[in-house]
Amino acid sequence: MNSVLRVFSYLRRYPGLATAQFFCATLMAVSVIVFPSITGFVIDHILPDPARQGELAFWVVVGVGSFFLKDGLNCARILINNHFEQNVIYDIRSDLYRKIQRLPLPWFDSRRTGDIMTRVVEDVTAMERVLIDGIELGLVAGIQLIAVGLVMYLTDWQVALWATLPIPILITGAWIYSKDARHRHKAERNATSALNSLLHDNIAGIRQIKSYAAEGEEHANFNRLSDKVRAATLYLMKWWAFYNPSMSFASMLGYALVLGAGGAAVIAGDMERGELVTFFLLLGLFYEPVTKLRQLNQMIFSSRAAGDRVFEIMDSEDEPNASTGERLPDQIEAHVRFEGVGFAYGDQPTLNDVEIDAAPGKTIALVGSTGAGKSTVLSLLNRFYEVDAGRITIDGIDIASLAKPALREKLGYVTQEPFLFNGTVRENLRLAIRGATEEEMWRALEAAHAANFVRALPQQLDTNVGERGVKLSGGEKQRLSIARALLKNAPILLLDEATASVDSETERQIQDALDALMANRTAFVIAHRLSTIQNADRIYVLELGRVIEQGTHDELLARGGKYAELCRKSFLDQQQPANAGF
Ligand code: ADP
Repeated sequence: MNSVLRVFSYLRRYPGLATAQFFCATLMAVSVIVFPSITGFVIDHILPDPARQGELAFWVVVGVGSFFLKDGLNCARILINNHFEQNVIYDIRSDLYRKIQRLPLPWFDSRRTGDIMTRVVEDVTAMERVLIDGIELGLVAGIQLIAVGLVMYLTDWQVALWATLPIPILITGAWIYSKDARHRHKAERNATSALNSLLHDNIAGIRQIKSYAAEGEEHANFNRLSDKVRAATLYLMKWWAFYNPSMSFASMLGYALVLGAGGAAVIAGDMERGELVTFFLLLGLFYEPVTKLRQLNQMIFSSRAAGDRVFEIMDSEDEPNASTGERLPDQIEAHVRFEGVGFAYGDQPTLNDVEIDAAPGKTIALVGSTGAGKSTVLSLLNRFYEVDAGRITIDGIDIASLAKPALREKLGYVTQEPFLFNGTVRENLRLAIRGATEEEMWRALEAAHAANFVRALPQQLDTNVGERGVKLSGGEKQRLSIARALLKNAPILLLDEATASVDSETERQIQDALDALMANRTAFVIAHRLSTIQNADRIYVLELGRVIEQGTHDELLARGGKYAELCRKSFLDQQQPANAGF
């Protein structure tokens, strides 16, 4: 459906505000006619008649009253319009955000964050232009055009016809201008979006830019995209520079035509001088909305380009089972099985016929070289992506039939790079359980060996951790994210073990925290630490997306295959740090 119409479909939610707006606009249009009519009447009937000249002051006061009424109504209309428009924008932005949260991960993989941000913040605001200015201009101008036109035709239809002559020229001009306007505006929006994306990327990677002394190149990249915005905007403006004055010229022709036709009518005695003055004043009010509608044309196209970008997101397909689907029972055994699972991100198969059996309460270690597909196994269990072949079951139930929130509430996921939101420690913990009590939070922190450092923070639980948790050390972030998973207390645990080197004391604390986390849970661990691997109940060795070996540590060592080789290479002969690993 046309984006502009879709924007207007949001207006239906506020019939009261819409009606009030329409009421004010109509009264305003009527009130603008009062002054020109009074002026003509005064010139023709008051000024020439000595008996009525005393009424002059009265008519001036009536004129002032009409202006007061018009601007008072305008004030009310603007206030109503502001509410109307901000409510609608709020609704659109909220719908858009809800939609974005329901989109599948592959959608995000192929988008730039800056582009998404531009759409949610800037494009929604650009759409709003068609609402504020669109309604304001369109409604007021439309009603005024009709009301003034009607009075003009009633005053003298022949002169009014001359005044209407430029209208077809204006319509033709608007049509020519509009033909490609959408593409011009879209090009400008896309260029702005590309610039925002680069900016977002560069600010997130400012440490890398500085450390590689890449400021110069990045500045050049920025300028290159910024120049595209300049070129696209200049192209837009060039069209406007020709369109606007030509249309203004066409409407000014109307004045000349009325002067000619109206002057001739006065000479012929068919029209009073006062009527001609009324006509000229009305003419100003007749062309004013035409000018406004011309600007509206420009606005609609700019909004439409923005609207297209917003509705493109709205029309993207939701991830399956974002809210619908079966639920798991409250208590589950947490027996997880991968049965012949195959998956590809693109054309290249990533996982092939993967069979994993994680018995309740057992720890499964996934090992293998980088790119073997270990993280993908966890992503599929989370249903960040859907399997292409085979199935994954929990207690015999295919997870493809579950509502995603119901599935994910059973999973505790600790990522390799712990992600903390820019908020307080408390807010970050409450992501796991919204209503977690202070006591529960401290218990989780205690178990994750994070309580001591949180206690030492200036405002303890209420300390802000900074964007992505920059104000905490790597080990602290890890323990906080483990505490978060502990707080969630999910029966199945997915753990991407961090490889980052931390000192041995922190290392030991993290290990203890992980042991606490894994106790009595079915756990999948992408294992790098020897201790984790040795303690695992079963080890699966992945290579190029296939499970090539499985068994316990001792079994696999005895077998002398890939696992034994990996162990030899990385850590077996060393007594050292558990974080030396694959
Ligand atoms: P591991 O965790 O064993 O290092 P991954 O599961 O992360 O391996 O990756 C397996 C393969 O899938 C790699 O070749 C990687 O390049 C590819 N891959 C991982 N994530 C994506 C993604 N989001 N889009 C496309 N390819 C991906």
